[in-house]
Amino acid sequence: MKKNIGFVVLGVALLFNSCASASKKSNGVNNRENMSFIEKQLVSLEQLCTLHKEIQDIDKSLEKLGPVAVVENGFYFVFDLDQAGEKYEFRMEYPVEMELPQSVRATFPLGFYGNKSAAVITEDAFETLEGRITIFHEFVHCFQSEEGSWELKMTLDSAREAYENQNYQWELNHPFPYTSEIFIIKTEELDNDYNIGAYHKEMKAALSEKDFEYMIWQEWTEGYATYIENLIRERLGVHTINIPLTLQGYATYLENLARETGVTIDPIHSFDRSVFYEIGNRYIAALIQNDAMLKGDIKTLFQKMINCEI
Ligand SMILES: [Zn+2]
Repeated sequence: MKKNIGFVVLGVALLFNSCASASKKSNGVNNRENMSFIEKQLVSLEQLCTLHKEIQDIDKSLEKLGPVAVVENGFYFVFDLDQAGEKYEFRMEYPVEMELPQSVRATFPLGFYGNKSAAVITEDAFETLEGRITIFHEFVHCFQSEEGSWELKMTLDSAREAYENQNYQWELNHPFPYTSEIFIIKTEELDNDYNIGAYHKEMKAALSEKDFEYMIWQEWTEGYATYIENLIRERLGVHTINIPLTLQGYATYLENLARETGVTIDPIHSFDRSVFYEIGNRYIAALIQNDAMLKGDIKTLFQKMINCEI
């Protein structure tokens, strides 16, 4: 049985909205409890640096480590690398001002920390090898951010309009037609290795421009992170992520995953956002197989995907 896979938190906790209440018990860094928490995280981060040496050559997106914000008791504890870029240091703590999943694994810019993109986690991410791998998945998102993912996102009408209307949750709540017949039929066909290029050309023709843009955006952000995460898993001898693309297989997979991670969910009757992790992973793998130069060149990869150039 697969467990603790990389998209657990975004795929389960964020989508199923299992949110922790921020209890804000922290009293600042002088608090003895906080000091021992910080010391413990520094030890875990040192181990992460050691693991990083084993996998950093896999892809350009893994060359550098990034900031890590560990959420505890309603506060972010921010750690970043020293000047030599070799060792993590504690930088600051700051109250969490939004609802976050209980076991968060996410990447977003920290407004209170120079707007730098950080891997936002809870300390349980350090407890298992798979958990540590998910932190590298988040660093891939940090790389996407450094490479200009925001500017790329703003080229999409759907995203730009959503943000202009202050819908900052566009990535999570765009009303994609997951129940449309053609989307379900064609996606299920992919399970039998149906041509991924032909699939995208058909989707581009069948979907509205905004829905297609949304689909490609999700496939590019999460698909690329999943593709790289799978390469890390292969290197470290951990099973890779392969989400079934039949509706029944998909539902069973996510329901099992939720059960294993202790999250209660309603039965799943349609595809949802998590399906793009897998479709994107397969699309990107096919594109890179065709042209190895695309690996790490994520902007060109995006253009190929949005233009269906395969
Ligand atoms: Zn991700």
